[in-house]
This record gives sequence, C-alpha cells and structure tokens, in this order.
Amino acid sequence: MNEQRFPHLFQPLDLGFTTLPNRLLMGSMHTGLEDRVWNYDKLTAYFVARARGGVGLMVTGGIAPNRRGSLAPLASKLTNRWEVMRHRKLTDGVHAAGGRICMQILHAGRYAYHPFSVAPSAIQAPINPFKPKALGAAGVKRQIRDFIRCAKLARRAGYDGVEVMGSEGYFINQFLVPRTNHRKDEWGGAFENRMRVPVDIVRGIRKAVGEDFIIIYRLSMLDMLADGNSFDEVVELGKAVERAGATIINTGIGWHETRIPTIATSVPRAAFTWVTRKMRDEVSIPLVTTNRINMPGTAEKVLAEGDADMISMARPFLADPDWAIKAEADRVDEINTCIACNQACLDHVFENKKATCLVNPRAARETELVIAPAARPKKVAVVGAGPAGLAAATTAAQRGHAVTLFEADRRIGGQFNMAKRIPGKEEFVETLRYFNRLIELHGVEVRLHERVEESALAQGGFDEIIIATGVLPRDPKIDGQDHPMVLSYPDVLKGDKSVGKRVAVVGAGGIGFDVSEFLLHENVPETPDPENVDVKHFFDEWGVDMDFETRGGVEGVQPDRDDPPRKIWMTQRSKGKPGAGLGKTTGWIHRKTLKNHGVEMLAGVAYDRIDDAGLHLTVKGGDGGEEKRVLQVDNVVLCTGQVSENALFETLKDNGLPVHLIGGAKLAAELDAKRAIEEGTRLAATL
Ligand code: FAD
Ligand code: NAP
Ligand code: SF4
Repeated sequence: MNEQRFPHLFQPLDLGFTTLPNRLLMGSMHTGLEDRVWNYDKLTAYFVARARGGVGLMVTGGIAPNRRGSLAPLASKLTNRWEVMRHRKLTDGVHAAGGRICMQILHAGRYAYHPFSVAPSAIQAPINPFKPKALGAAGVKRQIRDFIRCAKLARRAGYDGVEVMGSEGYFINQFLVPRTNHRKDEWGGAFENRMRVPVDIVRGIRKAVGEDFIIIYRLSMLDMLADGNSFDEVVELGKAVERAGATIINTGIGWHETRIPTIATSVPRAAFTWVTRKMRDEVSIPLVTTNRINMPGTAEKVLAEGDADMISMARPFLADPDWAIKAEADRVDEINTCIACNQACLDHVFENKKATCLVNPRAARETELVIAPAARPKKVAVVGAGPAGLAAATTAAQRGHAVTLFEADRRIGGQFNMAKRIPGKEEFVETLRYFNRLIELHGVEVRLHERVEESALAQGGFDEIIIATGVLPRDPKIDGQDHPMVLSYPDVLKGDKSVGKRVAVVGAGGIGFDVSEFLLHENVPETPDPENVDVKHFFDEWGVDMDFETRGGVEGVQPDRDDPPRKIWMTQRSKGKPGAGLGKTTGWIHRKTLKNHGVEMLAGVAYDRIDDAGLHLTVKGGDGGEEKRVLQVDNVVLCTGQVSENALFETLKDNGLPVHLIGGAKLAAELDAKRAIEEGTRLAATL
C-alpha cells in the first residue's frame, strides 16, 4: 500500500466517548427535503450516499427548535415525539451505511421569513421584509428550553449529536452584538449578558443529553459587520461554550447580511482558516474550519499547518458524495469539484426550490436520477464537447455505451474555456479536469479538431446521435459594428485580440459582467490555478483586517484597492438594474466588484452607431427625457446574448436519423451550465 497522501485528513479524531474515522465534516446545508415528511426517503438516500462515501461526520440542514424559530412557514422543526419518527429513518440509514450524523438546531430569529419571528430586540434585518417581535425575559427562557428539548428529541431520533447554530446572523448571533441586541435586562448590555443565551443553551443540552453525545457549537468567529464581536469577545464565548460542555467548536464566518463574499467562487480557497487558527491557543476542544475548501490538497495543508483539527465542507459533498473515498484512495483527479457557483444549491434554497448541484445534477435526487448500466450497449455519437456534450458522453459511456465525442476545437470544454479565464472563476478549470478524467476512465473516444458534418454522422452507423453544438454570439445589428474597434466576447476571452484602455461593454448579462471583470485585470493566464489566488489581496480589496484588531474584523477598515487598468462602461437597453438576472446569492458580488472598480453602468440606452469617435448612445431618463452621449472608447465589446447553433440537428432530423438536441443548441435563452449538464445527464441516463 502506498503511503497515505493526506495523512492529517485521514487521521482519526478521538472525542473521548467516540472516535471519528477522519477529519472531514459535511457541514450543514439546507436542501429543502427536510421540510416535508414525504421527502425523508429522498433525504435519507442523500445522506446515505455521503456516509458510504466516507465522510467522518455529517450535519443536517437546520431544524428549528420551535415554530417561531423556523426559517419559513412550514419549514422543518423538531418539537415533539411524532416528528422523531421521520428522523429515525434517516439516522438508521446513515448508521447502517457506517456513517455518523448530527442534527443542526437552527433558530432563525429575525431572519425567519414569516410574521411570527422573535428576536432579542424588534430590529428588522436588511434582508427580510418581516420585523421580529422582541422577546420578554420569559420568552428568552422559553427559547432556551426549546433548544434543549430539541436536542433531547434529536438524541431520541438516533442522531450522534447536535450542532447548535450560533453564527451567520441567526437568533443566537443576534443576542451577541449590540447591532441587534438593545436589551437592558440580564440578556443585554455587557458581553457577559449578551452571551448568556448560547452558554445556557449548551449547558442545558449537555445536562439533558448526557456525556456521550456530540455537541458542536457553531461560533461566529468573524462577523464582518461594523458593530460585530471583537476577537476578545469571540474568545470569551468560545471558552465559556467549552466549559458549558461543547465537544467541538465549528467556525462561522459572516452574517447573511454581510456584504463581503464568504463562500462565492471569487473567495480564494481556504481564505478564512486564519480565523480558526487564531482560536487554537484559546480553547482545548477540537476546532473545525470552513469556507471555500474543496480539494484534498487544500484541506490537508490547512490541517498540516495547524489551522484547525477538522475541515468542514458542505457544497463539495453535494458535488461529489464520494469525495472522501476518492481522496483516501489517491484518486483526486476523479473528484467532481464544487466550483462554488451557488447556482443550484444556495440560489435554489433562496428561490424556495430544492437544492441540487450544477456539476452533479444527481445531488439530493439520488432516488430519481439513476445512472444504471444500459440494457443494450449502443453506438452513440455526441457532437460538441461543451458541458452538455461532456455530461451526455461521459454518462452514456459510464452506462456501457460505445461513445464517440466530436469537438471542433482543439480541446474539450466549450464555453467553459472562456469562463475559466474570468478572475474569480478559476474553479471552472476543475470541471474540465474532471471531465477529462471521466473520458479516460469510461473510454469515450474523443475526436478533437473535427467539425463533424451530417454525412459523417449518417455514415457512422450510430444508434443515437446527440447534438450539443452550443451557441453563437447574437448579432445585435448596431450601425457601424464592423468598425475595427468592435470585438466579440470570444475575441477578448480567447485572448488573441488586445483591448485598449477605454472600453464599452455592450450587454449587461452574465457575459457582460464577466468580460468587464476580465478587463479589470491584466495578463490573465490561459489556464489559471485555483489553488493560487492571493488571499491577502482579497481581504485588502474588501476591507477586512486579518489581524482582527477591530470589531467584526471590518469596523473602520478602509479597502485597499488596485487602480483598474481600464475605464469601462457597461450598457443595456432595458431600464432595470444591470445584472438583475445574475445569481440570487452572487449577483450583488458581481455588481459591487465592478462598482468598486469604477465601472459605470448605463441602463435604458439605445445604440445609435459606432464610428471613430466611439459608441453613440441615446440614454433615456426616468422622466421620459433623452440625452445623446458618445462614449469615447478604444474598443466596443459585444456581449449581446447568444443564439442556438442547431443547423446540424435540423438536417439530421429531416433525414430521419435518431437524433437528440441538448444544451445551448436546444435553447440559448437563459442557458447556463446547470441546465446544460442536467440535460446531458438526464438524456444519457435514458438511452
Ligand atoms: P458550449 O459550451 O457552447 O459547447 C458547444 C461545443 O460544441 C463547442 O465546444 C463547439 O466548438 C462545439 N461544436 C459546435 N459545432 C460543432 C460541430 N459541428 N462539430 C463538432 N463540435 C462542434 N454558465 C453558468 O452556469 N455559470 C457561469 O458562471 C457561467 N459563466 C460563463 C462565463 C463566460 C465568459 C461564458 C462565455 C459562459 C458562461 N456560462 C456560465 C455559460 C456556460 O458556459 C454555457 O451555458 C455552457 O457552456 C453551454 O454548454 P453547451 O455544451 O450547451 O455549449
Ligand atoms: P444574457 O444574460 O441574455 O445577456 C444578454 C445581454 O445583451 C443583456 O444585457 C441584453 O440586455 C443584451 N442584448 C440582448 N439582445 C440585444 C441586442 N439585440 N442588441 C443589444 N443588446 C442586446 O446573455 P449572456 O450575457 O450572453 O450570457 C449567456 C448565458 O450564459 C446566460 O444566459 C447566463 O445564464 C450564462 N452565464 C452565466 C453567468 C453567471 O455568472 N451565472 C455568467 C456568464 C454567463 P438588453 O436587451 O437590455 O440590452
Ligand atoms: Fe458547488 Fe455550484 Fe454545486 Fe453548489 S451548485 S455545490 S456551489 S458546484
């Protein structure tokens, strides 16, 4: 047997009464399946897959200790013995698969999305239309008792422990800081009073559940809010929680209302482990670190450097349930890496849809989207090796079909080869690495540099032909667009055209934003390395004090931003907010990043013409008035949407061949990689 490549990651952790097999914690992630009793079989299958995949300890999505604390009307809670039954099914399944699981107790406080919310003070959250009611002293004590009752029920349901959610700005966090706690009684004022709620909760739970039950306390270590906790306060609370009986302390970073990215793909890998590290000399129970750790090498380094005792990852286990066994067996190149896009997980949760994963559409749908061996192996052609074609080809081959994948370009990846070059999207490189490995593993025959025609496909004797030929940039038909200063987004992102110092980006969709971000940087590599993104630069840009000498790590800190290499204007014809269609949890980051670097966004414009003077616009004002403007620019970059490239499909269909259409080739409007990969996977699962 080879020497273990990740010795720290796969070292058991002795908790006294039980030993965890490795240092991997699957962090709490709401899937939406928790909320309905009839979805518990699906939820069980989801956790069982991850338990089989070797993660040491898992934590459920947040379960409320009472109705007022639930995230939304009818969201999951555990308040009585009838509700225990559904959880029992889940814990039995996990234990039979050799796993361990804790239940997260989450009281939403003022983040509850319903009119019955309660909080330390009646202060509305900036991200919630509902104003909470301030609790009386008896009400506070009732919430504490409800946490304790919930933990006892969790034990009865067979969980190995609970996680008390004390971070991300939820109920407990709201007691801890003056921003949300204006109380004058024994629960407000001095920090000793403000921290009484979590300490009483942990102490009460320990007393109620006995010694042989895991209590994880999720401690908000870096609020990243003005008026957040100071480091000394965080330490004081950590020590008190340890004395009260916690087994493990997990790291919480930021509140939901924090306007600094914490988990988006633009956050460098392992960016926040320094925060956990600061706590290591202060408490003696194991510490878990978290946020943007997605690959074994990163996790191992964090542990080896002594930043923490355990690594929490949530989304990476959505992306790949077998992450742990692949890492342990040194099959790292087979890991389907979470690219931190949030598009199918967090964005879904915030849109009230069930979570799944952009790179793994089977996540939380293990019972519905089944990849079984094919009843009869077929000869399959896939045309186009973008995300849709890659998903289809590799899934079909995995099922035993003989697959030939045709790609006109010199490499696989389609538009992902442009996306991966956008600073902050370096993780897309991993998806291409993963598909390359699947191609090898399942024996897909790849024919690069081959723009395949109808005749070759007709003569190839294929049982099934899948057309995944993607899109073409939309022609906006602007007067003067053949001027040499005009470039398309592929001209810019494929790197062969230089761009001047003053640029107009026409179109403010996902690609317009990405092109603008790209142009704010110079010398962007063809294939960036997601492991080597500068952490200090990230915190300087967003104004976070890595010495944590100021409240919340941000109070009074001035961002230190690079001067952008270009002046950029971004335009759109419609009047709404530019970037309104971007991801729910990430759109604000894209908008803020561009604004922070002086990008001017113009909405409600008409394009008059392009000539030597630049881009001529008519800007329509809110009062119905109009203003003529000329953006005097060196280049105009067209990012005006996409149209399907589906001519091949139409010809094949007319000739009666067995042809299927997926991805951008099928529908370009509102196409993203989530739909492309899901369509490819679903089609191939049925062939
Ligand atoms: P494509 O990726 O367009 O692939 C089609 C492939 O078919 C191409 O490689 C092409 O060369 C090949 N082809 C065409 N005709 C033939 C032929 N006759 N023979 C052989 N090969 C052929 N989506 C997200 O979800 N999130 C993001 O953050 C995101 N960021 C993006 C950033 C940028 C800069 C860009 C450009 C796109 C981004 N997208 C993003 C969109 C995403 O990349 C697309 O939705 C996705 O690539 C569509 O996949 P597809 O397989 O349908 O098509
Ligand atoms: P898009 O989001 O549809 O945006 C197209 C932009 O072009 C809009 O701003 C639109 O605004 C403008 N436009 C459309 N027709 C035009 C015309 N005839 N003349 C001038 N302007 C026109 O498309 P995209 O930016 O090309 O992105 C393609 C897909 O990739 C998207 O659907 C997106 O899902 C995906 N993507 C996602 C991300 C992400 O971060 N999630 C990033 C990049 C791409 P007006 O009509 O108002 O002018
Ligand atoms: Fe990661 Fe994106 Fe999948 Fe969420 S949807 S788990 S962020 S890859």
